[in-house]
Amino acid sequence: MGLTETAEGGEDGGWVTVRLRQGADVRARVVIGADGTSGRCGTHVGVRCDQVDVGLEGEFVVDAAMADRWTGRMLIDWGPVPGSYGWVFPKGRVLTVGVIGDREQGAALRGYYRSLVDRYGLTDLPREHDSGHLTRVRAAGSPLRRGRVLVSGDAAGLLDPWTREGISFALRSGRLAGEAAAAVAAPRASGPHGVAALAAYPARVERILGPEMDAGREVLAAFARRPAVMHALLSSPGTFGLFTRLIEGRTTVARQLRRPGVRAVVAALAR
Ligand SMILES: Cc1cc2nc3c(=O)[nH]c(=O)nc-3n(C[C@H](O)[C@H](O)[C@H](O)COP(=O)(O)OP(=O)(O)OC[C@H]3O[C@@H](n4cnc5c(N)ncnc54)[C@H](O)[C@@H]3O)c2cc1C
Repeated sequence: MGLTETAEGGEDGGWVTVRLRQGADVRARVVIGADGTSGRCGTHVGVRCDQVDVGLEGEFVVDAAMADRWTGRMLIDWGPVPGSYGWVFPKGRVLTVGVIGDREQGAALRGYYRSLVDRYGLTDLPREHDSGHLTRVRAAGSPLRRGRVLVSGDAAGLLDPWTREGISFALRSGRLAGEAAAAVAAPRASGPHGVAALAAYPARVERILGPEMDAGREVLAAFARRPAVMHALLSSPGTFGLFTRLIEGRTTVARQLRRPGVRAVVAALAR
């Protein structure tokens, strides 16, 4: 796939041409690049990332007894590589097991993944799926738009630097990009329209998702330095409620860091 832009009839009359490997070119007023971390659109826009992690994940088919043991439970573990962690999520007769951490420490992460799988007696079980993927976190100030091409989700490096969760970032940035594209097609009663709506997209993303990414970076620094303390803090009876609110999306790390007590603890742990 390739992208080229033309500005027929001035900027408002511009088009993006998407060249496909097979089939005819596609012309559009706006292209939203939601093609993931290794897609073409991020390269076209010039996305820069300063955190690259590798995630290794498998889906293991378990028997009824093991499925029962995991029902209503999930496991989050911290790994040997600073900033890495592992998980076990039950999905009925399938357990999803994975680890994620700094790509530069790939060998240590593969060892961590094997040991986690072994620890829970899964090594010899059939796997529906076993794969490795990179996740990339955008550097501060990395572009989100080039002309009529907007990037969203992983293509833009939008994800939480601490948890490396990106689904909600992809949905929210995709929605903002969709609104900007719709405003090019059909002027709205309020807000910017036409090319101005595309120009406003990066600032809208920065305003909504930027504070969450900054907060994720701060917590990652504390977690990388003192994983055991962070683990104890998040799993202790007094704070476990906060942890569940975070993972259920009922609060955010950014909101919690606005509380002076929480900020002081996180800053102290990162030192
Ligand atoms: C192991 C692992 C576990 C994760 N677990 C979680 C989790 O529990 N919670 C969470 O929130 N996030 C998690 N994430 C991150 C999450 O998967 C991503 O942030 C999210 O999927 C990003 O969505 P996206 O739509 O931007 O990109 P993607 O989900 O990568 O979708 C991009 C799509 O574009 C398609 N594509 C690419 N190029 C082309 C092309 N040229 N033509 C046509 N199609 C193309 C791809 O095939 C793909 O379907 C995890 C990541 C990893 C690696």
